[in-house]
Amino acid sequence: MPELPEVEVTRLSFADRILGAQIQSIRLGLPLRWPLGQPPQQLMAKWVGPVQRRGKYLWLSLLDSFDQPPQDTPGLLLHLGMSGSLSFEINPAPAGPYDHFEMVTSLGVLRLRDPRRFGAVIWSPSLTSGMAYKLLQGLGIEPFDPQFSGAYLYAALHHKTSAIKVALLSGQTVVGAGNIYVSEALFRARIRPQTRCSRISLARYMRLAEAIQFILRQAIELGGSSIRDFQDTHGLAGKFQQQAGVYGREGQPCTVCQTLVRRIIQGQRSTFFCPSCQRP
Ligand SMILES: [Zn+2]
Repeated sequence: MPELPEVEVTRLSFADRILGAQIQSIRLGLPLRWPLGQPPQQLMAKWVGPVQRRGKYLWLSLLDSFDQPPQDTPGLLLHLGMSGSLSFEINPAPAGPYDHFEMVTSLGVLRLRDPRRFGAVIWSPSLTSGMAYKLLQGLGIEPFDPQFSGAYLYAALHHKTSAIKVALLSGQTVVGAGNIYVSEALFRARIRPQTRCSRISLARYMRLAEAIQFILRQAIELGGSSIRDFQDTHGLAGKFQQQAGVYGREGQPCTVCQTLVRRIIQGQRSTFFCPSCQRP
């Protein structure tokens, strides 16, 4: 499943190239998770403005004129679901059976390939109203927002009794800590995943915030250097995993202390940790 780093790498790979493109046609394939919510012909001749990311969503602002300021404009909210990937090419191959959204522009063809169809392309009147508001309102803060910090995590979580890993994975406090990345961040911060949020000190939350940012930045850089054509956004988690400290390494020695890495199930997801480095 594409996580925040994959989505950010996807954004970086085409945001500059699609900026200022004019929409010429839109083709819809089989239904995705949510409908477009607007007749495609309503989008003809619109100009594509900046491409932003919020959590695992991308936002393509659509402008009426080339020089319109891109604030509070309508746009398309894109989600890659479980299996989606976006490509933006000047001369793509003919659409295949899994290509369920295609937008031909003056600068290239934006295409969503999504075999399982949990992804979506949704029109919204702005980023802060309509469907975009509905889907984004529950999201936690961005990990690279200047307001995100150990103090922020402490304030949001120290009264909760749930396990820290489960709390972070929900995305309600901070977005982006998907299963592999939250496991690695907790390892780096030396916090055991089962630890109750209320038992974690401010100092440890500060280490955790730094670790979350470090791990996500590392993943984005890894993807940015190796997945430039972004046909293969799903390869990023795999590449990241090759250098993981604990994730996917049950029974193997911890890279820091040689203790064997353990795996448990939390919230129906696998959690990996070093019982020696990571303290309850
Ligand atoms: Zn260890």
